[in-house]
Amino acid sequence: MNIVLLGPPGAGKGTQAQRLGRALQLQHLSSGDVLRAERASGTELGRQVAAIMDAGALVPDPVIVEVMLARVLSLPEEFKGVLLDGFPRTLGQARSLDEALEKAGRKIDGVVLLKVPDEVIVERISGRLSCPQCGAIYHEKVQPPRVAGKCDRDGAALVHRPDDRPEVVRERLAAYHQQTAPLADYYRGRGVLAEVPGDQPIEKVEEQLLAIGQSIIKKASS
Ligand SMILES: [Zn+2]
Repeated sequence: MNIVLLGPPGAGKGTQAQRLGRALQLQHLSSGDVLRAERASGTELGRQVAAIMDAGALVPDPVIVEVMLARVLSLPEEFKGVLLDGFPRTLGQARSLDEALEKAGRKIDGVVLLKVPDEVIVERISGRLSCPQCGAIYHEKVQPPRVAGKCDRDGAALVHRPDDRPEVVRERLAAYHQQTAPLADYYRGRGVLAEVPGDQPIEKVEEQLLAIGQSIIKKASS
């Protein structure tokens, strides 16, 4: 059972993936975590990943595919399958993954796209206030500190991080759409794509993700 979760940065995808993975007994494989673990493992592939990351370069598609595929194919027994998060990120990665899975007699059973309007994400992220002292995160509207501009825990003056500025967030979203649109089309063409609107209360999103996940599993096992 292999399910992919796609969604924009800042949409809470990581948290949703963790919960969904637990609910469906799928191993949550976030590409960032997997790459860090591979790197820490000290294998030949891990050393390769470390060298690329230390040079500040993007890990090339064949390397990411190899690292992720190894995890997909060596699933611990307590799981029914994997929930991929952050991978595949590009059309090229999706194609290589499909080819490699096919050789192993596996496939992607379902892809869920979390759809959130850009402006909702821009508002969520650009309203963030961070504590430079303890790292606590607040939000101007949704989760304000008790005293305006001050951290609840230590009273430090809260700041807007440079990465959270609206123009920076919009740039990240533009890059996301450029990569993801062809990826979504590809999976839609294969008949495995489902969409969930992400601009609704988090419990609703969770409910719908769970329902779709369950129907993917049911379909695959029938
Ligand atoms: Zn603080």
